Amino acid sequence: MVAAPQINVQKAETSKLQSFSFENLPFGKYFTDHMLEADYEDGEWKNIEIKPYQPLLLDPSTAAIHYGQAIFEGIKAYKDNEGNAFIFRPIDNYKRFNISAERLRMPPVPEEVFMEGMRLLVQIDKNWIPNQDDHSLYIRPFMFSTEATLGVKPSDSYKFMIILSPTGPYYSKPMRIYVEEKFSRAAPGGIGFAKAAGNYASSLLPAAEAHKLGYDQVLWTDAVEHKYVQEIGTMNVFFIIGNKAYTPELTSGTILAGVTRDSAITILKEMGFEIIEDRISIDDVIKAHKAGELREVFGTGTAATISPIKELRYKDYVMEFDVSKWIVSPELKRNLNDIRNSKVADRFGWMFRV
Ligand SMILES: *Cc1c(COP(=O)(O)O)cnc(C)c1O
Repeated sequence: MVAAPQINVQKAETSKLQSFSFENLPFGKYFTDHMLEADYEDGEWKNIEIKPYQPLLLDPSTAAIHYGQAIFEGIKAYKDNEGNAFIFRPIDNYKRFNISAERLRMPPVPEEVFMEGMRLLVQIDKNWIPNQDDHSLYIRPFMFSTEATLGVKPSDSYKFMIILSPTGPYYSKPMRIYVEEKFSRAAPGGIGFAKAAGNYASSLLPAAEAHKLGYDQVLWTDAVEHKYVQEIGTMNVFFIIGNKAYTPELTSGTILAGVTRDSAITILKEMGFEIIEDRISIDDVIKAHKAGELREVFGTGTAATISPIKELRYKDYVMEFDVSKWIVSPELKRNLNDIRNSKVADRFGWMFRV
């Protein structure tokens, strides 16, 4: 790591923790006492500060509000039994953040600002990391253009920020998923591989239509033929078929390269599964289901970790699963959580000590 940047710290006078309850936490609703803010101006990052969590004052013509030049990341921090704080694979998120930045024509955030800023912020708000199972401190780094102009062009100024939110389980119950064949999330040449704000805006209507039909989320298919499965909402997707684990390959640039996806692949290999990263057609999934070989379907993502899917519907064909009989994804989840909660050795070097 490069020399530590100058980060000015202004502490909150009182902590909101005194009157805060960690029971029944909705995702992303409550925030800690502090936030990190940095400005990109005249070609450099400056004003790097940690200060009390507070609203922003923005010009109504702020470019990001109009044209969506905005990206984000999602990371989690945990505590071990001694109360030491760890962040799960933040370097991988840092790298992906700058891949997103490049695609959205934004300046890269230097590693020392992203990593040291995050480390220091989490250290300051360490008491906000929950202790309960399936709980953690969700870390949200983000960047958006701040130039006050309605011209469509890369902005000459940006804001990079990190906010923290204590969180419980994202989807508490197994999900019902609708295979989408009308709307598309991402097309080749587009921004599907970037964690860009607009990708999520465009997912809301399809998800709302799926909700009306009683489904929790959609499984996206490719934008060209609506034939190959992509990912689920904000999660990557895995299919356990026989003794193999299948997940869509990433080379088309339409799928977000999940850190949880990569972690799941690593752990599944360790569990003895052969991993097939390939184009996976919905027809092949149905074929495996009809043959009785489709054992488990689940999503992976930082917010949701490992989420079982109890129903998958494509057109009129409904695949239902008795999630209580599953063994692979529960074991995967246990193995992953044991690492995150420091119950076993960090054999892959994933835990970043705060
Ligand atoms: C964030 C995200 C994922 C999961 O990525 P993780 O790094 O595992 O959190 C998958 N798909 C989309 C579209 C996402 O935004």
